[in-house]
Amino acid sequence: MEKTGSKTKVKGYAALDARSDLVPFSFERRALGKKDIFIEILYCGVCHSDLHQVKNEWGGSMFPMVPGHEIIGKVTHIGASVKKFKVGDIAGVGCMVDSCRACSSCKEHEEQFCKEGCTWTYGSPDKISQGVTYGGYSTEIVVDEDFALHISKKLDPAATAPLLCAGITTYSPLKHWKAGPGKKVGIYGLGGLGHMALKFARSFGAHVVQFTTSENKIDDAKRLGAHEVILSTSKGQMDAHMESFDLILDTVSAPHDANILLSLLKRNGSLVTVGVPSDAFKVMAFSLIRNRRSFSGSLIGGIKETQEMLDYCAEKNITSDIELIDMKDINDAYKRLLKSDVKYRFVIDIASLKK
Ligand code: NAP
Ligand code: ZN
Ligand code: ZN
Repeated sequence: MEKTGSKTKVKGYAALDARSDLVPFSFERRALGKKDIFIEILYCGVCHSDLHQVKNEWGGSMFPMVPGHEIIGKVTHIGASVKKFKVGDIAGVGCMVDSCRACSSCKEHEEQFCKEGCTWTYGSPDKISQGVTYGGYSTEIVVDEDFALHISKKLDPAATAPLLCAGITTYSPLKHWKAGPGKKVGIYGLGGLGHMALKFARSFGAHVVQFTTSENKIDDAKRLGAHEVILSTSKGQMDAHMESFDLILDTVSAPHDANILLSLLKRNGSLVTVGVPSDAFKVMAFSLIRNRRSFSGSLIGGIKETQEMLDYCAEKNITSDIELIDMKDINDAYKRLLKSDVKYRFVIDIASLKK
C-alpha cells in the first residue's frame, strides 16, 4: 500500500519552552518517501533524557519539542522501494532516524557515532524536511526503513517500547565490557535504564549487584534478578564491597560522586557511565591510578545491535516493567521521574491521544 504525495497532520504533545508543562500540539509528518514506512504509534516510553531535554539541562534544546524515542507501532503504509517491512508489521523506532551512512562509524554499524552527527528522533535538525524532528509523543511517525526495527509479535508491545532506548543503552555496554560468567557487575541506580541493565547482566550470567538509594526498591531488585542489593546511602554497605567489582554501569541521572564508585573497582576494573547528569564529574587521579582503573561512557547502540538486542529479548522473553499512562498525565509522570518514583518505566498509551 502506498501513501504518497501528501503530508499527514498528526496530534502530539510538546514542550513550548524549557519552563512550562507539555501541552497538546498538532504538526505534520512528511509525505511518504520511497524508502519510508508510515507507523501508527501504539506506545512510547518516557526516558529521563526526554526530561533533561525538555528542561534544556544539556543546552541547545529546540522548541517546540515533541519528545519520545522509545516508539512502538503498527506499519500502515510503505513506500514504493521498501523491502524490510510490510503493512501490518510491528515496528520500533529508537533514538535515531538518520545518519550520513558513509563515514567509518556508519559503515561499522555504529550510527550513533556518525561523524556528521546522526539525526536524533526529536529535537534535531532534519535534513529531509529542513525543519526539526518530532518524536514519539504523537499519533504517527514517518521513518526511513533503515532506522526502523522489527519487533517480534511474541513480545508485549507496551513493555517492549522501553527496549528502544533503555534496552539498547544498557545491552550495548554490558556486551562491550563483557559482563558474563565470572564477572562481578554493579548497576548503579534502579530506574528505567538500571532495571534493564539488571535484567541483561543477570541474563548474561554475571554476578549482579544492584545499587539503589531507595529502600523501597530492595525487594524489587532481588525479584528483577540481583544477587545482592546495596543501599548506596549506607557507608557500611558500600565499604563491604571495596575493590571488588570488574564493572560498574552507572545509570544515574542526577549529579553524584564518581570517586566513590571508582573505589569499588578491583584491579583493571571499569566504571562506565550511561547516565548523563548535567554537572561535570570531578574525578581524582588517585581514584584511577590505584588498581589501574578506567572510567568510560557509552551512547545507546547502533541499529544492527539494537535489532540483535530485540531478537535476544524475544528469545529470552525480556521486556521492561512498566507503568502505562495516558498522554495527559505526562507532566505528573515527569514530576515522579524526578523523585525516582517509577517502577520502572512510564509508557504512554498513544490511544489516549486520539480520544
Ligand atoms: P530514571 O528512570 O529516572 O532512573 C535514574 C535512577 O537514578 C533513579 O531511579 C534513581 O535510582 C537514581 N538516582 C536518581 N537521583 C540520584 C542521586 N541523586 N544519587 C544517586 N542515584 C540517583 O532515568 P533513566 O531514564 O533510567 O535515565 C538515566 C540517565 O541515563 C539519564 O541521565 C538519561 O539522560 C541517561 N540516558 C543515557 C543514554 C545513553 O545513551 N548514554 C540513553 C538513555 C538515557 P534509585 O532509586 O535506585 O537510587
Ligand atoms: Zn532515552
Ligand atoms: Zn556517518
